[in-house]
Order: sequence, then structure tokens, then C-alpha cells
Amino acid sequence: MPPPSSFLTHLECSVHGDRYDPAEAHNLSKAGKPLLACYDLDGVRGNFTKSALKERDATLWRYRELLPVRAGRDIVSLGEIMTPLIATPALRGGGGEVFIKDESRLPTGSFKARGLCMAVSMARACGVRRIAMPTNGNAGAALAAYAARAGIESFIFCPQDTPQINIREIAASGGKVWLVNGLINDCGRIVGEGREAMGWFDCSTLKEPYRIEGKKTMGLELAEQFGWTLPDVILYPTGGGTGLIGMWKAFHELQKIGWIDCKLPRMVAVQAAGCAPIVKAFEDNAEHAETWRDARTVAAGIRVPAAIGDFLILRAVRESNGFAIAVDDGAIIHAREEIAHKEGLLACPEGAATYAAYRKALEDGRIEPRESAVMFNCAAGAKYELPPVTRSVTLGEVDYRKLR
Ligand SMILES: *Cc1c(COP(=O)(O)O)cnc(C)c1O
Repeated sequence: MPPPSSFLTHLECSVHGDRYDPAEAHNLSKAGKPLLACYDLDGVRGNFTKSALKERDATLWRYRELLPVRAGRDIVSLGEIMTPLIATPALRGGGGEVFIKDESRLPTGSFKARGLCMAVSMARACGVRRIAMPTNGNAGAALAAYAARAGIESFIFCPQDTPQINIREIAASGGKVWLVNGLINDCGRIVGEGREAMGWFDCSTLKEPYRIEGKKTMGLELAEQFGWTLPDVILYPTGGGTGLIGMWKAFHELQKIGWIDCKLPRMVAVQAAGCAPIVKAFEDNAEHAETWRDARTVAAGIRVPAAIGDFLILRAVRESNGFAIAVDDGAIIHAREEIAHKEGLLACPEGAATYAAYRKALEDGRIEPRESAVMFNCAAGAKYELPPVTRSVTLGEVDYRKLR
């Protein structure tokens, strides 16, 4: 059992700053806003050193001082390895290096594992026995898996056109999964309104404070993998925005504990043209995003018409001098093929969207060819539908000259 060494102090309303006790399970603040986890960063600074990392396992738990779980026995883990940062020189737009952070290696095949291992660990520590969530697929799969391991009952609601593989994966992992004739925000309403009748804990994106902390580890890992510096630009496929908000939080915590003093990256929120509420709000100079009507895209993980943390996403993008950008499904599919053919990495559509956005931003000048960039492949490509194969050979009459 690793020593309990979290420096978590309290939870804080992201708008008003009122405080909450992390010993109890919380959803939103009194004002209905996301809660953020706060740490004694002076304590971390005095007690946590970069050299301490050398002796620790290459999992996200190596950053435990900056994570909320207080006791080793509360950790619910399936082996959340540090994911590789893969140089992809064939995708470069110029002199700047580009990388793909390959999150498909995580348990359940997506980066949702980072957030859900943290949320489920904290929920169990707070005595939660039943948990519920709306999902476009990957979050539900991760929740079902960690809940099973923690002995917690899970109720999961998906839009009925969620990829079949995700729905079946959730059921196979022991989650009780329902198909809903609506989008993820409609599923979210079912979870919210069922709280009293069902006595479940609502684990929706940002309505629970610890998924951000898990996703924050992407930022911690990036800093460590870059030798305690950071790239010029980070392109992040943005749905609920947990990862973008979490990484921005991580960079500030690293500054405050004195581990980095480089320029922070420009954060780029990538969305699909068929569901781009954050891009619209960014372009309109708005603080909040309007709900996107008739949302549709092949990139199911970023089909989020309304995000409760919209203002936190927009704030991070603006503070970092970044931008929000939409790419259409044709560009996403083309990008996916190009990454696979040139670099051998089969990305998920959401991950491919970040490369499509990189290309588009190079063309319109918002990213310069000399800038270094990190793109995220957030889930295993093989979890998504792939183009069918029709070529065949018949036994006994193989004509090799015709194989091409
Ligand atoms: C959830 C998800 C996203 C969006 O992540 P957020 O941090 O919630 O914005 C992107 N891609 C995939 C594959 C996902 O499952």
C-alpha cells in the first residue's frame, strides 16, 4: 500500500470560491457550478521532489501528492500506465516537432480511464454504493469497469446511436446500460432527475469534482515527458472539456510548486463542425456556449451539445492565447487514414480530429510551422467502425499478377 500523501485540502466552487469538505461526496456547488479540488501547494513544494519520481511506478499514481485520494487502500486501479508520447515526423507541418500522446493504451481503451479511476476511488472512499452517468460510450465503459472492481453498482445511459461496441462493452463489464432516444444532455437529465428515486451518485462530466483531477495527469505526464518544459501548442478534442480544463490546472499547479518555469502551451479546443458549441462561443466572444442544435458527427466522443464547464474551457483557451476550431467529418476521416498510412497509428475519429485541426490551423496561419505541437489520440481506433474490406481470393485459382 503506497503511503497516503495527498495534499488535498478542500473543494471550491469554480465561480464563487465557497468551500466544501472532501470527506463527503459532492456534485455541484450551491450555485450549481463545478467544484475544483484544491491542494496545499506549499506543502507539496516542500515535500515532493522530481527525484522522488524516479523510484515510482510509471502510472498516473506517481503524482499522488497532487491527486485527491488520501489512503492507498482507497485506490481503485486497473493499471493506468503513463501513455507514450510518440513523435510523428511524417505529420509535421514544418520545423516544429509534432507528437501524438497515445491514450489508447489505458484500461478500457480510452483516456476516460484517467478520470474514472479517480472518481470511483473517491466515491468509494466517501461510501457511495450506486453510481450513474450519461455517456457517449467511452466514459460509460470506464465507469462500468472501475465500479465493478470497486463493488459499486453502475447505471449508464447512452444515446441510442452510440457505437455498438461501447454499449456492449459497458454491459459486458457489469454496467446496467440503457439506450435513450436522445443526446447526451437528455441522458444527463435522466440521471439528474433520478437521484432521489434511485439513490445514486451522479457521475456526469464536471458534476463530480475528481474526473478533472484524473485527467489532469495528462498535463503532468506531458511536462515530465518533455523534461519539465512544454510544447508550444496542445490540440485537444473537446466534448465536456475535462481534459483541457484539467491540463490547464495541472500546468498552474506545476508552476506553483516550482517544477516548471517555461511558457505555457497555447490550448486549442478541437470540435467537429457538426457539434461545435465551444467554437461558436469562442468566435462570438461569449463567456458561455449555447446548446448546439441537431448535433451530429462520426466523432461520438465529442458530440456534446452543451457542456456545464463551457466557461472553464473558454477561459483556459483564452488565457493560454489559444483558440477553438471545428473540422468537418470528411477531414476527420481523411486525417485518420493519413495518420495510419504515414505513421502506423490507428487513431479514433476524435484523435484524428486533432490532426485535421492541426493541418487546418497551419493553413490559416493560427499555428506556425516552427511550433511544436501535441495531438491527443484519446481512444483505441479499433473500438470504432472501420471501412469494410471487399477484396478476396479464391482457393485454387490465385492469380498473383492480379493482386495489387
Ligand atoms: C470523452 C471523449 C472526448 C472528450 O473528452 P473531454 O475531456 O470530455 O472533452 C474525446 N474523445 C474521446 C474518444 C472521448 O471518449
